[in-house]
Amino acid sequence: MNAAGWTSGVLLALALATGTVSDVPRANPPVMRNGYRVLAVDFHVHGFPSSWATLAPWDLVLEARRQGLDAIVVAGHNNVWTGKLGRWFSRLAGGPTVLAGEEIVSPRYHMIAAGIDRGVEWNQPAASAIAEVHRQGGIAIAAHPTAAFWPAWDEAAVRMLDGTEVLQPISYLPGRASYEVQEFYERAKVAAIGDSDYHGLGPMGLCRTRVLARDNSENAILEAVRAGRTSAERGPGPDTSAAAALSRACALLGLSIALIWKPKRPPEEVRWVR
Ligand SMILES: [Zn+2]
Ligand SMILES: [Zn+2]
Repeated sequence: MNAAGWTSGVLLALALATGTVSDVPRANPPVMRNGYRVLAVDFHVHGFPSSWATLAPWDLVLEARRQGLDAIVVAGHNNVWTGKLGRWFSRLAGGPTVLAGEEIVSPRYHMIAAGIDRGVEWNQPAASAIAEVHRQGGIAIAAHPTAAFWPAWDEAAVRMLDGTEVLQPISYLPGRASYEVQEFYERAKVAAIGDSDYHGLGPMGLCRTRVLARDNSENAILEAVRAGRTSAERGPGPDTSAAAALSRACALLGLSIALIWKPKRPPEEVRWVR
């Protein structure tokens, strides 16, 4: 290996070392306001092996703690078992609060059902699906309600909703999606929810919900959403510590050198002998 190869290797090793040192869970001390505990909650998280997700339910619990979240809703696409598995592990490990849930994925609407134990039939109108969620003691949140989904959100369904996503990864995309979810929120007049729709790419809690709850229990979080004590917000963003910045710089430089560097190839006849 020549000097460029060695330099690239050393920089990448340095990037790994400084990245490891800087990778600590975000501080999340309890904060009180108006007699309520202020919680950071992500209501829309998916777990492997369902829902095209990469992290297992127990890894979601560890990642939620790393991102300074007090609670998450693990919502499988049309299944509730990944959420129940995450909830079981979190109770065992003393992790952040996990509510079992489901993203009811129908061709006409997507809906987060949080705080349920049994799956809800996806092939039914939104209003009757919400009624089933409420019968189980859960809450219903419209997931990314862009204009394409509006025909399914008739008056009956909107009246029954508990919350709607107003901040979501689609809010970062060019186009009308972010305006459309805002417009739906103004129509629905329910709790404002920020979610990351986490599948394993980008940070969990990229968008999140500030919830004013009596405590950090599942029931207190559900009650706070029903009462509308929420606001949607963006997450804290990338780690700005010196170690994290050094790690990113070393990784960028090391990879650039590795891509630019071309090792000398042996003459043709030598390669033939091999
Ligand atoms: Zn969806
Ligand atoms: Zn989703």
